[in-house]
Amino acid sequence: MLVRSAAAPHLGAYAATAFGGAATCFFHGDHAASQACSQCGRFVCALCDMTLEGSHLCPACFEQKLNQGALASLRQSDVLYDSIALWAGWGWILVYFSYIFVVPAVMYLSIAKWRAPKRYLVPRRRWRYCAAWVGLLLPVALFAALLLIPANQRGGR
Ligand SMILES: [Zn+2]
Ligand SMILES: [Zn+2]
Repeated sequence: MLVRSAAAPHLGAYAATAFGGAATCFFHGDHAASQACSQCGRFVCALCDMTLEGSHLCPACFEQKLNQGALASLRQSDVLYDSIALWAGWGWILVYFSYIFVVPAVMYLSIAKWRAPKRYLVPRRRWRYCAAWVGLLLPVALFAALLLIPANQRGGR
């Protein structure tokens, strides 16, 4: 809808040529129109007719769609390293033998990816890295506790 209203000033221009006989391309006044843009309705010649996912688009709308598509794919390709670190930091509990792989992975992620790229659309918080480390250090703490508690008990006797 916004696109249509943005293109509205041009609608009069193409309507005039369309009513004055053969429709001509919006971009090339001397080219006969072969298609109408499915998004803004401007007539385009065979040269300007862009096909994207089965719909005909004018070059302006084609570029717009491409930019939107690029943005959408960029959004999806944003790897949320802190979430990975968090999952890895606690995931070893589910797959316990993965611990030895998880330690260097979380170490790497929390050091290399501490600063999230500015282009991230979702603001990321660093607490996930800290939470990941809590998960990683949990067995160390447990191990230490297991070692220390019997020693204390033995010492107490
Ligand atoms: Zn268009
Ligand atoms: Zn054209």
